[in-house]
Amino acid sequence: MEEVGTGLLDRLDAMQRVAASAPSGPLLIVAGPGTGKTRTLTHRIAYLCAELNVFPEQCLAITFTRRAAEEMRERLDGLLGPVAEDVTVSTFHSLGLQILRENATAAGLPADFRIADDAERAAARAEAGEDDAAYAKLLRADGLVDLDELVTLPVALLSESKALVEEYRARWRWIFVDEYQDVDAVQYDLLRLLSPPDGNLCAIGDPDQAIYSFRGADVGYFLRFAQDFTDARTVRLTRNYRSSAPILAAAVQSIAPASLVRGRRLDPARLDPEAPLVGRFAAGSAGEEAEFVARTVDELVGGVSHRSMDAGRADGHTSNISFSDIAVLYRTDAQSGPILDALHRAGVPVQKRSHNRLRDRAGVAAIARELRHQDGLGGSVAARVRLTGQVLAERYATPTLDAAATVEPADIWTAVEMLKPLALRCGDDVQRFLGEIALGAEVDTLDPRAEAVTLLTLHAAKGLEFPVVFLAGCEDGLLPMRFPGERPSSEDVDEERRLFFVGLTRAQDRLYLSHAARRFRYGAERDSVPTPFLSDIDAGLFERLGAAEPRKPKDRQLRLL
Ligand code: ATP
Ligand code: MG
Repeated sequence: MEEVGTGLLDRLDAMQRVAASAPSGPLLIVAGPGTGKTRTLTHRIAYLCAELNVFPEQCLAITFTRRAAEEMRERLDGLLGPVAEDVTVSTFHSLGLQILRENATAAGLPADFRIADDAERAAARAEAGEDDAAYAKLLRADGLVDLDELVTLPVALLSESKALVEEYRARWRWIFVDEYQDVDAVQYDLLRLLSPPDGNLCAIGDPDQAIYSFRGADVGYFLRFAQDFTDARTVRLTRNYRSSAPILAAAVQSIAPASLVRGRRLDPARLDPEAPLVGRFAAGSAGEEAEFVARTVDELVGGVSHRSMDAGRADGHTSNISFSDIAVLYRTDAQSGPILDALHRAGVPVQKRSHNRLRDRAGVAAIARELRHQDGLGGSVAARVRLTGQVLAERYATPTLDAAATVEPADIWTAVEMLKPLALRCGDDVQRFLGEIALGAEVDTLDPRAEAVTLLTLHAAKGLEFPVVFLAGCEDGLLPMRFPGERPSSEDVDEERRLFFVGLTRAQDRLYLSHAARRFRYGAERDSVPTPFLSDIDAGLFERLGAAEPRKPKDRQLRLL
């Protein structure tokens, strides 16, 4: 635990300190990637509690994923010690669930209501047809709520009861929202109900990283924060601590044509003159691209551990690269196939996650269903998941009459593997485990300590950082994404550009951008050209990597920002 007291803000720079110690009232922290937004947010909570006598139970921190919530909880534990447990750290969904649990009767729900699983939703939908009111009624009759209702129901409940609004406003006097650029209309309504216009709402984010409009997120809420909340104070952070100078320069150039932040600035805190340029690899095919990734991973891990035996080498940043330092990012899950194959062939351990809901995976849904109906099993959740996986894999090993109800044994085993970290965290509490599955995204089960290369969709990579990042499939049609014969709107292309920016800015020390001249898409092998986003980046920031060994050029001038 860090020492609480005057030293609390010592590990922040001057602007971060201004943000962390800002007086009460609405506060907007606008800052680019890697500028320490999340770090500043945790320090602000710790500072308020340790220095200004704010009670931890008066603080509500809202994050985008369960994984981010856990990380924030850990960081708060480190700063505040055991009292950090009294801070509420939630996603919008888990916050909504808490409000509904506390007011089940008022919301017309049984005390033991739960979230409908896929089969239950499908059954209600089949019976109700298009009729959304009828659909909700059917769920309600069985004591079920739909996932989407976890935020809409609390909003409806609070909108009808001033007393309830006052109760929650009195409880959570300080509200913090990370990744505010991706709130949607209902989440925004909930925030407005929970926080008075002159309340202590602290919103943190980066409009240039708004990438969830396909789920209804609207960056407009971020842009009009100052109009919505009285006398809002705005703090900007401009020093990027995450990325090497060439990586940051490339990222800044890539977002410049569509930046939503007026006068955007991002200055590198890291000025290592030896920092490698951004690697760029032009592959003939998706298979060749995958081979490049596997070969480079092998060289980085094998090669560097070899080199670190050299006593003369004192380069703390790039030596000792392990598999857990490496991420491979891509636009669509379908791209992961050849990359997985190549990494498997090279004997590289991997963990693969997307931003999709956990329960959308057939294997996960089957395990959850089985666990819910198999009550006699005892022991740890982890053991029960393993056993259930075995039972299901055996059951589905032979074709059943009902082909639609069949789950591939491989999907079951992937699900068992994916659910392991979550199961371990839940101890013996199977109900908690089922609740986490109902709410969680695949990326929530990512194990940052696993000795494996992490494969992620770009959407799932938000907020994360890795020493080494590969961004595969930097091609027109994939990034920006476009279906054959379709012309995306300029808003869509801008969002794809932000996604590209998010990808680039996940990298700390080494970044590799690759594209393939041919790729199998929409049922056919198709030609593709590099993404136009690449041409907004100065050629001098790239090192073109051939099929041969990557070179590390010497005596070159870095073009800094
Ligand atoms: P993103 O927009 O990607 O979510 P962020 O602004 O939330 O990024 P953080 O994840 O909080 O950035 O910080 C990025 C990295 O920089 C982290 O490794 C963090 O520990 C480091 N960092 C932030 N501030 C400082 C600082 N003052 N001194 C040293 N390191 C820092
Ligand atoms: Mg962050």
